Amino acid sequence: MNRDNVPFLRRGLMLVLSSPSGAGKTTISRAILKHDLNLTMSISVTTRPMRPSEVDGEDYYFVDEKKFKLMINRGQLLEYANVFGNFYGTPKQPVEDALLNGQDILFDIDWQGTQQLADNENAKKDLVSVFILPPNTIELENRLRARAQDPEEIVQQRMSKAADEMSHYREYKYVIVNDDIEASVKCIEKILVAERICIERQIGLHEFVQNLRTSS
Ligand code: 5GP
Repeated sequence: MNRDNVPFLRRGLMLVLSSPSGAGKTTISRAILKHDLNLTMSISVTTRPMRPSEVDGEDYYFVDEKKFKLMINRGQLLEYANVFGNFYGTPKQPVEDALLNGQDILFDIDWQGTQQLADNENAKKDLVSVFILPPNTIELENRLRARAQDPEEIVQQRMSKAADEMSHYREYKYVIVNDDIEASVKCIEKILVAERICIERQIGLHEFVQNLRTSS
């Protein structure tokens, strides 16, 4: 059951947050997850090398390319993409289980993955996509450097990719300019409140109304 305090079952939703690296998406995601008990993070599979601060099974499942391709061939990924020369993908089963149980899932995936979800007849009705823009490019570069986890060459690569990534903002339902983390978090929380009461997500609603009508 979900924790919306409604007396019937709701289908979960897939909240996708995309942005160029350094737009503040990770900070925003952490803040939302902390306050929202009905939201869990989808843990992606990646072939990217693990960063020093990362934990296998928490940040990502780190696998080699052979294993990743096996997962593709077995149909175990809901979506996948090559980002900066590494593969990233979303394991399908945990998402399907969560949605059925009325659990919402937060995805930190790129525009390619979001497009795949939007083009998938089954997935698109569960999709709530949000694109996060930085307030300006100076801020974007500062945030990328402040991380200091990636070599300079990668930082430069990501900066030049940012313009490309930002061109995809139109493919999202909501766009937020992240000037202020707290305001952006509040904004996404409001989106969640509204999207959760979409009629098609309230799958127990029909029966609930029938009962209200027959007992009145
Ligand atoms: P990073 O290597 O910085 O953790 O992530 C690089 C990019 O890969 C980010 O833009 C992130 O959104 C994207 N990404 C992470 N996991 C997935 C995934 O499962 N699918 C797709 N399509 N992109 C992902």
